[in-house]
Amino acid sequence: MNIIHISAECFPVAKVGGLADVVGALPKYQSTSTTKAQVIMPFYDNAFSKNNSFKSIYESVVNLGANSYTFSVKVLNEAPLDFDVFFIDIPDLLFKTYIYSAEDTERFLAFQIATLNWILTWGNAPDVIHCHDHHTGLIPFMLQESHKYKALKDIPNVLTIHNAQYQGGFSHENVNLIPEFNFNNVGLLDWNGYINPLAAAIKCAWKVTTVSPSYMEELKEKANGLEGLLREESGKCSGILNGIDWNVWNPETDTNVIANYNTDTIESGRKANKAYLCERFNLDVNKPLFGFIGRLVYEKGSDLFPEVIKKSLENNTHSILLLGSGNKDQEQEFENLKSQYKGSYNAYIGYDEKLSHIVYAGADFLLMPSRVEPCGLNQMYCLRYGTIPIVRSIGGLKDTVTDISQENGFGICHENVEALEISNAIERGITLYNSTQKFNQIRKQIMEIDHSWNASAQAYINLYKQTK
Ligand code: ADP
Repeated sequence: MNIIHISAECFPVAKVGGLADVVGALPKYQSTSTTKAQVIMPFYDNAFSKNNSFKSIYESVVNLGANSYTFSVKVLNEAPLDFDVFFIDIPDLLFKTYIYSAEDTERFLAFQIATLNWILTWGNAPDVIHCHDHHTGLIPFMLQESHKYKALKDIPNVLTIHNAQYQGGFSHENVNLIPEFNFNNVGLLDWNGYINPLAAAIKCAWKVTTVSPSYMEELKEKANGLEGLLREESGKCSGILNGIDWNVWNPETDTNVIANYNTDTIESGRKANKAYLCERFNLDVNKPLFGFIGRLVYEKGSDLFPEVIKKSLENNTHSILLLGSGNKDQEQEFENLKSQYKGSYNAYIGYDEKLSHIVYAGADFLLMPSRVEPCGLNQMYCLRYGTIPIVRSIGGLKDTVTDISQENGFGICHENVEALEISNAIERGITLYNSTQKFNQIRKQIMEIDHSWNASAQAYINLYKQTK
């Protein structure tokens, strides 16, 4: 079985968040003696394209309404990745230092059209086309409706929704950008008077998945306007929990951390990582350390941290370390709080992959007070590194973290995204930290929970087989 993943992100080529981690790991686990998984993605002007050499294997033109853009399909000269990646290079539109921008309608439409134009000419037509998020959401529609792609119509396609908040909507005035189709079916593109690529994909894809079972159920109640559509299409919808790349995220071999460790050496290994963090960020190594890693956006609940810091740090019992970037007001507020809570709070504003690994390996607890969490990878990374997750029970967090009050529980869960609840959860964390024996036992226990991709990669293969 030949599987093609089409995505805007793929780690380590280009990453904004969890989408990249998934598309960078799933194909590895789907490549077996009987299946082969490959990725098609845009060619960006970033460190990966600068540090590697490429050759063109196909050159053509993509038409977008009245405009034409030259494009090529590139592959790597050497193979630093465990699977094939085909890069769609549209110099005028995609080759930018950023992944997402305000002009994404044209950029990603051109990407999708160029991708299908190339697949059309490719001797190697895939058995399954797997689209990820709205940036590739018009592909299921075009496969079904555009005259040009008639030859690809019978290839099963699957949509995975990583985040339904973003839908890529644009005006019907731009409908002429889409390759010609039977206009009687224009309604398939529409949602609430706009062309909505995510809605079109939900309608046209053969199967629709979300990245956790709970997120699928939650979307049927609240999906930024698409809840009714998901209920209507529920027969082809399911949730498959993401896994994590077991080799990249391995405290025993991770070259990013200060000291490597396994379940036997957890105490000394984690101590060295915590000591580094406390030294670098001027925090007390003898107090429990609560970390946060993530985009500073409303969905992550990070706007509540200033209140949490003010509420919970009064007693001087613990430290908080934030690593994130995003909303500029939040970034400024986190900077401003540094002088006031010197010694018990600090923040690194920016994106730092290496530091994130050290936080997973050195913080005692990881805070995830998300308002929305389709799956969440951070909690799975922190489990693997023996850091106890403190999560709001929603989406994938609900599916992966069991509260310590339950049988075999190992995390701390709260129901609502409120500063008081987060502060109470921190208090519960401090109590657990002070019960040294239980704390150490849980840290070891969570390192052994298997969130590798094996089971989920197989679940996708089973799903593809159901499309036959
Ligand atoms: P989302 O995709 O919604 O951002 P996920 O939990 O699915 O959330 O994935 C987040 C990924 O991005 C994780 O690999 C996390 O470690 C990483 N990450 C987020 N912010 C930062 C940051 N500032 N520095 C380093 N890594 C980050």
